[in-house]
Amino acid sequence: MKRSFDTIVLGCGGLGSAALYWLSRELGGEVLGLEQFAHGHERGGSHDHSRIIRLSYGVTDYTHLAVHTYPCFAELEEESGVQLVFKTGGLDLSPTPAGQPGELGSFAAAMRESGIDFETWSAEDTMRHFPQFRLPGDVQVLYQKDAGLVDARKGVMVHALMARRNGAALLDQTAVQGITPHSDGVDIDTTQGRFSARRLVVTAGAWLTPVLRLVGLKLPITVTREQVSYFSSPHLRDFAVGRFPVWIYYGNQDHCFYGFPVYGEAAVKAAEDVGGQATTAETRSYDRDQRSDHSLRAFMQAHLPSALGPELYTKTCLYDMTPDRDFIVDFLPQHPNILIVSGAAHAYKFSSLLGKIAAELTLTGQTTFGIERFGLDRPGLTDPGFTPSFRLQGEALSP
Ligand SMILES: Cc1cc2nc3c(=O)[nH]c(=O)nc-3n(C[C@H](O)[C@H](O)[C@H](O)COP(=O)(O)OP(=O)(O)OC[C@H]3O[C@@H](n4cnc5c(N)ncnc54)[C@H](O)[C@@H]3O)c2cc1C
Repeated sequence: MKRSFDTIVLGCGGLGSAALYWLSRELGGEVLGLEQFAHGHERGGSHDHSRIIRLSYGVTDYTHLAVHTYPCFAELEEESGVQLVFKTGGLDLSPTPAGQPGELGSFAAAMRESGIDFETWSAEDTMRHFPQFRLPGDVQVLYQKDAGLVDARKGVMVHALMARRNGAALLDQTAVQGITPHSDGVDIDTTQGRFSARRLVVTAGAWLTPVLRLVGLKLPITVTREQVSYFSSPHLRDFAVGRFPVWIYYGNQDHCFYGFPVYGEAAVKAAEDVGGQATTAETRSYDRDQRSDHSLRAFMQAHLPSALGPELYTKTCLYDMTPDRDFIVDFLPQHPNILIVSGAAHAYKFSSLLGKIAAELTLTGQTTFGIERFGLDRPGLTDPGFTPSFRLQGEALSP
């Protein structure tokens, strides 16, 4: 077995499989992916039928980047013949007291600055376009036509399959247990023996903390056990792709909910963002969260009653959040051969683009894309007094 490579990718979930693909286009057989579980497993952050892909964000660092995500997936779709992105239109909704800019003011400004078309709708407009919704009059809504869903499960597999077709190696059921950086590369000890490489790309998701421990480092990553639910609505037709958008409702008191048209199951999917309990990737359970169940059902009963029906299933999944909920895309200052790529629990839509950026950084040390916001030397990661931009359920509201 080949043991020495130009680049090794540690963790082949959503971001790692994408990095493996984009690296394989340049390196062919000189790139190796290592995955501790069976490839495509359901223990991390990238396993489900759908993830929201959107251009609407509240800061231009993301809106500028978001316009480049679709072409990356389109190249992969073209090469593989597998459709991954489904445009459904997307709604960002937020109750906004009259005369206040509200949560969505920054979204509108950032999209305008990035030249992204969108429409501002009232609650009435929204219920006219999508009568499935029940909305209070003070809800502000942004509609963006290119938003939709990306098939995360297929995306992980197709990125890896195309990487392998380009000559890359992917070893799953191969856990990394030791990392020894040295001046001209990195030695990686695994359950399948030692490998070495000029560069290491770490895309370990919710396992970033135990992986960094292997090089004696620590970052303030919060892991939560999240859950999504599929409801067997008797009004399934009303929620079909083409009749219903992806949506995100930025509610009061930091309660944020989101959902999808019917995809992957004969059911309507919805969930609460940061609705789960803090945990770790090593100790997490697969138990559902009763509080989150109730919170989601209450929301759906109030705003999307016809989407409800007998529950098909609820599944859990792990968020890995930085305190500022910004990505990490940076080389370790202590070990400049090691690149960290972490998605702060909103990165599947960017997975192929982040894979491309990781490839550019690994091969040339630089990238054409704007990643200044994602550096390791920022207050969100270095200031122990930094107030997280998210609140875990049950935590007191910040004053
Ligand atoms: C419920 C939920 C809903 C979400 N909704 C959206 C959405 O709508 N839109 C969006 O853009 N994003 C969304 N996200 C976020 C997005 O899914 C994640 O940011 C992204 O999938 C994370 O990918 P990853 O590669 O970082 O992590 P993962 O896919 O978890 O991959 C990390 C991999 O590293 C492997 N690994 C770790 N340690 C080792 C080791 N020592 N040796 C070998 N392998 C190792 C793990 O086994 C795993 O396969 C959501 C996430 C969740 C949980």
